[in-house]
Amino acid sequence: MELQIRDVSKTYANGVQALKHVTLTIPMGMYGLLGPNGAGKSTLMRTLATLQEPDTGTIRLGEIDVVRQRDELRRTLGYLPQEFGVYPKVNAEDLLDHFAVLKGIADRKARRAAVEGLLRQTNLWEVRKKHLGGYSGGMRQRFGIAVALLGNPRLIIVDEPTAGLDPAERVRFLNLLSELGENSVVILSTHIVEDVSELCSCMAIIDQGRILLEAEPLRAIADVEGRIWSRTVPRSELPALEREHAVISTRLLAGRTIAHVYSDGSPGAEFEAVEPDLKDVYFAAMGGHGRSARPVEVAA
Ligand code: ADP
Repeated sequence: MELQIRDVSKTYANGVQALKHVTLTIPMGMYGLLGPNGAGKSTLMRTLATLQEPDTGTIRLGEIDVVRQRDELRRTLGYLPQEFGVYPKVNAEDLLDHFAVLKGIADRKARRAAVEGLLRQTNLWEVRKKHLGGYSGGMRQRFGIAVALLGNPRLIIVDEPTAGLDPAERVRFLNLLSELGENSVVILSTHIVEDVSELCSCMAIIDQGRILLEAEPLRAIADVEGRIWSRTVPRSELPALEREHAVISTRLLAGRTIAHVYSDGSPGAEFEAVEPDLKDVYFAAMGGHGRSARPVEVAA
């Protein structure tokens, strides 16, 4: 089973073209959709979750036509939206049980087993009697995953789940996600490159509604090997560097600027070759230096 997204476009009533001919093939396992704010990630996630329809294009999950067979899709969907409300005065166990009823798990014994299993899996069993209003951000996100996993969905969508989590909560949450995905398609939408590099075996980069790159992270990193160069300059020299070179990213270290430059060969003696990581892939793609931009090699 895989999720096939073909030529999906969406323009909002205000004229914003949020998705432009998006085509992706998403296999089972953990898939990262990476892009900056405003790239179109939530629009695509909401479309996959059947909360809105695309203007054009088709989406299939195995045998299910996602756009036309919404009810079938919803029966096998687990969706953790970017923001979700909880009833603050209800405890986790009762609310999860309530959602399980809504999900159609009618048998009381089966429901109790499912609820207990999910609360244990998300490490919330000890705090199951606590009101959700007293939960931390990380606990709330884990509760959201428990809700999303009810009924063993084959499509699981998590939209920007680590935004706002502190580092320890984030690691715990990513560990939980890493256990999913063996028998389902799990899509993690995020603007945090590390979320993808730590978890996902396949990924796509989206910007301004367009897919810039669809790849396996390790292969994408290998593809930019030898093309990323670094130079440390005083901040005042950065504009000059940007005029002369394809600067894809900059970061500050102790008041100086470390710039990464994309270049097929060494851009000069002052530059050091960089062992690239997924951030370099991301910024190279965002700067228009994706795989497709690779020059044709001419035999001597
Ligand atoms: P992301 O999740 O990557 O931040 P979104 O899908 O939320 O991106 O947004 C993509 C673009 O569509 C943005 O320019 C955003 O302002 C716009 N947009 C999102 N939702 C709506 C909406 N309901 N009406 C109009 N424009 C929207």
